[in-house]
Amino acid sequence: MSDPASNAPAIETRGLTKRFGTRTAVDGVDLLVPRACAFGFLGPNGAGKTTMIRMLLGLTGASDGEMSLLGYPVPAQRGVALRRVGAIVEDPRFHTHLTGRENLRVVAAVRGPEAEARIAPALARVGLSERADDKVRRYSLGMRQRLGVARCLLADPQLLILDEPTNGLDPGGIQEFREMIRALVEQEGRTVFLSSHLLDEVEKICDAAAIVDRGTVLTQGPIAELAGGGARHELIVGVDDAETALDVLAGADTVLEAHRSDEGLRVVLAFGPDTAAEINALLVSAGLAVTRLEPVRHSLEHRFLEITSRLDAPAEEVRA
Ligand code: ATP
Repeated sequence: MSDPASNAPAIETRGLTKRFGTRTAVDGVDLLVPRACAFGFLGPNGAGKTTMIRMLLGLTGASDGEMSLLGYPVPAQRGVALRRVGAIVEDPRFHTHLTGRENLRVVAAVRGPEAEARIAPALARVGLSERADDKVRRYSLGMRQRLGVARCLLADPQLLILDEPTNGLDPGGIQEFREMIRALVEQEGRTVFLSSHLLDEVEKICDAAAIVDRGTVLTQGPIAELAGGGARHELIVGVDDAETALDVLAGADTVLEAHRSDEGLRVVLAFGPDTAAEINALLVSAGLAVTRLEPVRHSLEHRFLEITSRLDAPAEEVRA
């Protein structure tokens, strides 16, 4: 399919805003989703994720701001854009008395022979080839979700937009879903934009993410940068004599701060992770036995909680 805007980002929004009366559900969002990646739109319940997706798909109008899908401005060229986009906003519905394959045939019959030819590859891609001739009423929730994606694939979309796709799935279902998304991105070069309130999942499935809270995007970028961004470079150090080690570290240029912790000494590096070897050499040359030297990993979850400043928030506020 020729695409006049193939270099444009998959999704771009500027100042996108949605107000419901006096409540602002999405508040001046600038979002940039590159092509051929899995992008997580991550935020707690009520953060504005569904509203954002509904605006992108033209299901509800924006109060303010601009947006484009695959380089096509929306809503001006919504029709052209949406022909290249597949979306699942609510639980996908099927004829449960028909098989998975029959359900796809019903859709393909409307779309034409190209869609018909995509049925088998789509079922294979979502891992349903072997169960394709079972009735959908015998499918698990995870299988229905994947059949929903197969249905989207009949249109050969460049961009898939999925609202909380792993909600309610068991760990096995999540794992299968994750493998499917990775294959869509890595083997087929599609872009997958998915919303989630599950941090761990976004960290595992996505290449990049935006963290959204109360209608505002707080930060966005590659997962590794979000997890580590702004974090200090810290080491956990195990030694046979903590007192002497603290004295030695207090005089080192490469150390910003060192203190005891439950796990050993916690050392904040002044110049980044490469200086860990110097810390080791310093301690060893002072006659100390170093039993552990380990960088502190900042998970996206920690970063997410840090960013939304909810680590110390009362439970009611976290739920609000
Ligand atoms: P959840 O995962 O709980 O659905 P979400 O991040 O998708 O959360 P939204 O559903 O987009 O959040 O809701 C964002 C805010 O906008 C909420 O405060 C919600 O109550 C409000 N909101 C959403 N739709 C409407 C509507 N049609 N009318 C009024 N307020 C709405």
